[in-house]
Amino acid sequence: MTINTKTGRLFIENKAASDVAKEFGTPCYVYSKNSIKTNFNRFKDAFGERKNLVCYAVKANSNIAIIRILADLGSGFDIVSGGELSRVLAAGGDPSKTVFSGVGKTHAEIHYALEQKIKCFNVESESELHRISTIARELGVEANISLRVNPDVDAKTHPYISTGLKENKFGVDVDDAMRLYKIAAKLPNIEPTGIDCHIGSQLTEIAPMRDAALKMVELTDALIAENIVIDHIDFGGGLGIQYQDETPIHQELFVKMLLEAMGSREQEILIEPGRSIVGNSGLLLTTVEYLKHGPNKNFIVVDAAMNDLARPSLYNAYHHIDSIIEEKNRPLKRYDIVGPICETGDFLGKDRDLCVNEGDVLAIHSVGAYGMTMSSNYNSRGRAPEILIDDTRAHVIRDRESIEDLFSNEQIAP
Ligand SMILES: *Cc1c(COP(=O)(O)O)cnc(C)c1O
Repeated sequence: MTINTKTGRLFIENKAASDVAKEFGTPCYVYSKNSIKTNFNRFKDAFGERKNLVCYAVKANSNIAIIRILADLGSGFDIVSGGELSRVLAAGGDPSKTVFSGVGKTHAEIHYALEQKIKCFNVESESELHRISTIARELGVEANISLRVNPDVDAKTHPYISTGLKENKFGVDVDDAMRLYKIAAKLPNIEPTGIDCHIGSQLTEIAPMRDAALKMVELTDALIAENIVIDHIDFGGGLGIQYQDETPIHQELFVKMLLEAMGSREQEILIEPGRSIVGNSGLLLTTVEYLKHGPNKNFIVVDAAMNDLARPSLYNAYHHIDSIIEEKNRPLKRYDIVGPICETGDFLGKDRDLCVNEGDVLAIHSVGAYGMTMSSNYNSRGRAPEILIDDTRAHVIRDRESIEDLFSNEQIAP
């Protein structure tokens, strides 16, 4: 994702963005394989020989080609649905390195995950414990569980992606955890093997993460004192990335903090990073359809929209946007970059200073996480294709959705 200083053109690895746009059309998602590998390996290298499992959070980007890249590097997976488990299996991921999070696991999903022998369920309520016990007994298997503990720390991120406060729907109260572990330990076909937390996403401060980690370690000691054998601690994901002017926490610093919190304890450490592995590994390429100059505002109408990238409309999220050909010494104008969807909320960027012409291609940056996975067909727009760049090669890892795809599973009622 660098501008070649000689040519002034944007490159993804050794492939020019302009060539990708020409070959595959726009809008299209483009990912760098090398960037994904580098981000994953930063976590692994920071752990060194220490027993650990990095469980990539599949919901950040669930394309099977991306899951495969990570599976090949030895990654585990954090899933939140049966659909995500199917993707992991289809991509060659290892179910015995897969943990299942989420507040609403259905009977069918639990059944499926038990059959596939996943590593652990991150359980979010007492009712869920009973449900897993019942299904495991029917199948005659043992279910490994962690309780997702809500450590009640303020992660200091957007309220929609903060999950570790008492008022959130996630996890069980830290003060109630001991009682629930004792219940779990007595339930048939339930094996409490771990403890888990995840306090939010796009975190840029280490202090709340450290507070949560210390609470987890303290609870682990208390559980062990009650003869509940905890063999892994899952510290969740949530590491932020740079979208604009944030200073993200480096992977190495995060892991170092965890190692310090663990002290001499020897449990396996799990983490569940999503955004920090794929977020800055992806671009959305889009073509300028129209320039529109109004009395108070100028608009760039592009061929991508909120259905392709929901984060700006949903969270007012910032994504850097620039032309894929560097514009030098030309007058800049202030624009809102908007899509063709019939909603005022359909914008991709606001008040950006750019110099563009109709037909130019723009790159929307940092869209590798929660980009394609949050896309929809709103306004009957087919989803964009996904292209994986490996050095100079471009691989289509998801075709552009066709018009037929849009209603191929609809019927006219008699
Ligand atoms: C979403 C999620 C993650 C990943 O969060 P990132 O901010 O993408 O790292 C990890 N664990 C759980 C339980 C999640 O819901």
